[in-house]
Order: sequence, then C-alpha cells, then structure tokens
Amino acid sequence: MSLSTHAGRYAPSPSGDLHVGNLRTALLAWLFARGSGRRFVLRVEDIDTQRSSAEAARRQCEDLEALGLRHDGAVLYQHDRFPAYEEALDTLRRRGLLYECYCSRRDIREAARAPHTPPGMYPGTCRDLGEEERAERRRRLRENGRVPALRLRAQAREWSVTDILYGHVSGPVDDVIVRRGGSGAVDWAYNLAVVVDDAYQGIDQVVRGDDLLMSAPAQAYLAHELGFPQPTYAHVPLVLNEEGRRLAKRDGAVTLRELGQQGMSPREVLHLLAESLGLPPKDSPDALLPHFDPARIPREPWIWRTPPAPGRTCP
Ligand code: GLU
Repeated sequence: MSLSTHAGRYAPSPSGDLHVGNLRTALLAWLFARGSGRRFVLRVEDIDTQRSSAEAARRQCEDLEALGLRHDGAVLYQHDRFPAYEEALDTLRRRGLLYECYCSRRDIREAARAPHTPPGMYPGTCRDLGEEERAERRRRLRENGRVPALRLRAQAREWSVTDILYGHVSGPVDDVIVRRGGSGAVDWAYNLAVVVDDAYQGIDQVVRGDDLLMSAPAQAYLAHELGFPQPTYAHVPLVLNEEGRRLAKRDGAVTLRELGQQGMSPREVLHLLAESLGLPPKDSPDALLPHFDPARIPREPWIWRTPPAPGRTCP
C-alpha cells in the first residue's frame, strides 16, 4: 500500500501529560500505521472543555515528538470541528435517526434495573415518546435551565468489526448519545466526534487501548449510518500498575517528564517501551519498524514497575 489517504492515528484527550501507558499505545499506533504504509495522524480530542487544556495538548505533542513519533500533516483539534458535527447531526436527523432524551443519570440508573436491559445500555425510556409527552418533558427541563440530549435511534441491535488482535468482534449497538444535554452549552459526545473525525482524516486503521474494544461495534455502526467506511481496529493491551489496576498519574513517576526528572532520557523510555513489546532497544521508532510484527505483540497487559532512579542501590 502506498502512502495515501490510508491513515492510522493517535487521538489523546489533553487532560494532562501522557503516561507510559498512553505513550506505549501511541508507539503501537505509529508502528501499526507506518508498518502498513499508512500515514500517521494526530488528533487532539478536546471536546470536553472542562477537562481539556491547550497547554496539556502542547505538552502531549512535545512528548510524542521527543519519542520520535512524528505525525503527518497538521494536528486536528476537535474544538475546530463543531460545524462538521452539526452536519453529521443533520444527516442523522434527515434520516429519522435522532431523538431527544430527557433522562437524568439517575433516571437511567433506575430504569436500567429492569431485567430486559443489558448492563450499561440505555433502557430506551425516551425512544418512543409521543409529541405531547416530549413537549412536556422539554418544558420541564427548560424550567431548570437545561436542554435535552440527542440520541441515535439505532436500527440494529448488534454490529461486528474486524480487529487485528481480537479477530471478528460483535457487540451491542446502543442508542448512544451524540450530543449531550445539560446546561445549554453545546456539548458534543465522544462517540459522534470520533466517528466523524476518523472519516474526515481518512483513518482506516484505529489502534487504541483495549478498554475501548466494546465501543467499536457502536462506533462502526454509527459510521455506517453516516455513510462512512468502517475502519479496521487493533485494540492493544493496557499498561497496569503493580496492583493490576490501570496505570494512572498517581502511580508515581509515569510521565516522560517525571521519568526525565529521575534521570531517564526519552531514548531510554523508548527502549523500555520497545522491550515491553518484545522489540530490541532501538533509538528511534523508525529503527524499530523492521522488527515490528503485529502478530507477535504481547497480548497480556504490561505491568509497569517504576525503574529505580540512577544512583539508588537496589537492596
Ligand atoms: N481520546 C481517547 C483517549 O484518550 C481515545 C479515543 C480513541 O482512540 O478512540 O482515551
């Protein structure tokens, strides 16, 4: 495959510095993309304005650069993409695939206790309301200064995707939220933004942490309804702390900068990441490429143990 519109991507949320788990996923996304002749693009997923910051995005880009994970073209920021999300909503609306949802989290929790609702799925409370009922619920929300969410009126119950590591994966398709409700400010939902942006950036290979595996069927279904091609996925194992929990900032020195303060250079961090993937300790992602074989990446989570700071003697 020649370098073309085919692309892979890394799509971090800029809520803080990337930790070694994020960096390992980014390295894998880069290796998968470059190893298959794809472009590698970067997208800053900053639709969550409360948790995102421009400063965090800048630092994330710098850290990826420091590891040698260069991307093609300009970085795409989701905060610039609101008109595209509006357009996607219009498409769904025209096709009768949208409905307003007036439920609070509590309403959903309570209704979801009904035995026929699979865990985590929307119980469908607002899907088939009549116009009068809708007007009443809308009015009640408005009195509290709130606007309804918008949900996809899914026409399928299940959808399948192809994953390079997991094979054929089928999963439930929910009436996912495509625009959040709340205090009135437009609040785009991750599921819509990710699908619209992957299509816009020509992404036909999605590599990300395997905590998102079960989001893939619903996202691929949404892509289908919007007339977008369905990407191939590779959901890669996460990095865990020594207690077996997903690595987090509180687990000590886990970011490139924190490790830097302990005397570890980006090159040494890259060696560690390479080693965790069964690859030789090369000094750049490019040098790792000839050794990368997707079929041989470890399927188990990688347990992160903070390396002893230089000069500290081991007991
Ligand atoms: N922005 C998401 C995250 O940082 C990743 C979403 C995706 O790769 O689809 O967890």
